[in-house]
Amino acid sequence: MGGTHEVGRNAVLVDSNGSNLLLDYGVKIGEKPQFPGHIRAKDVDGIVVSHAHLDHSGGVPQFYLREAKPFFATPVTMEVMRILIRDMIKLSGYWLPFEYIEFETMLKQRHDLAYGEPVKMKNLEFNLLDAGHIPGSAMVEITTGGKRILYTGDLNTDTTRLCQGAKVPRKRFDAIVIESTYANKDHEDRKKIEVEFVDAIKAVLHDEGKVLVPAFAVGRSQEMLSVMQAHKLKANRVVDGMARSVNRIYMDHPDFMRTPQAFAKTINSTREMTGWRDRRTAVRRSDVMVAPSGMLQGGTAMFYMEKLALREENAVFLVSFQVPGTGGAKLMETGFFTIKEMDVEVKAKVRHFDFSSHCGRSGLEAFIRGVKGKPDVYVVHGEPENCESLAQWARDELDLNAAAPNEGDEFKV
Ligand SMILES: [Zn+2]
Ligand SMILES: [Zn+2]
Repeated sequence: MGGTHEVGRNAVLVDSNGSNLLLDYGVKIGEKPQFPGHIRAKDVDGIVVSHAHLDHSGGVPQFYLREAKPFFATPVTMEVMRILIRDMIKLSGYWLPFEYIEFETMLKQRHDLAYGEPVKMKNLEFNLLDAGHIPGSAMVEITTGGKRILYTGDLNTDTTRLCQGAKVPRKRFDAIVIESTYANKDHEDRKKIEVEFVDAIKAVLHDEGKVLVPAFAVGRSQEMLSVMQAHKLKANRVVDGMARSVNRIYMDHPDFMRTPQAFAKTINSTREMTGWRDRRTAVRRSDVMVAPSGMLQGGTAMFYMEKLALREENAVFLVSFQVPGTGGAKLMETGFFTIKEMDVEVKAKVRHFDFSSHCGRSGLEAFIRGVKGKPDVYVVHGEPENCESLAQWARDELDLNAAAPNEGDEFKV
């Protein structure tokens, strides 16, 4: 229903003899938020959200204008969604077909699921499996009418500091719906990037500079702090913005963290900024500042950018893909950044590190290859060429029925 040939507004509907289970219902944030294809709330029996990122969760409240259907996710996903959707309503409420009240109604229908916990809904059965993407992220395994379907959501088979890499489920599947964000490339070796990143910070600190790490509030900020902690970086670290609330949620759900003790140590040794006085002190006294947004589009990172960008001993280390058109992309391409509506040439060192929470090409291929039962493959959640090329690969190499669907396409399993 959405997220076909694109990243954003993911949604898949599973219809089994009139039982309708909706898997994700995301939003594509742009000037105007875009949603997946329409389905009436009364035609949906239940909704499963794979993880909290808005491209999977942001549209779900619109099913709670008049209806109260059950809604399923892991507790971490529920809590993080609460923060992200509240923020989205604050920022783009005008464009949304729902208000905070609908989100509150939705949370009243909340059913928290542990991984593996089975749910029966009319003639469908489903459970969640760890997707390795961010803490609490899940794949959905659905059994109905003698068929088994796997929806990967966002997938990472590589182990990161926060998450154990996802495993290929052992059962046989008749169909899989898989993401393809990085179907066109392999990431660099994780250990190697970690070392490069930490060494680069050390070099800046050695020259008495400071480092800004703009990072997404959910997952990436915590991952970067954990990388520094794991490599025993001696530096005064601060974290800012929405990442602070996410820290709390992760601390409250140790079961969903790969190494809860190490994570607690990381957070306890990082200062959380509580206001402007804190921030002004931090830019003078601390060494590394981790702050959203990850693409330098607003958020407290803008404050640090303003304070650090004009001195060459400082550095800005970008740690995620920078969508064209964002402040971060412009900075990487041109070396310029807009501060107080003025284009200024950034003197601080700018570098990009390829940390990712999605598997790269070989990870996706190995995952599909590993699924038993000759499943049909539906590739979504990627740029058009990535969706097409992964489907093509599954046809050519594995001789599977594979397609990169368009919005509104229906398939029979
Ligand atoms: Zn995601
Ligand atoms: Zn996604």
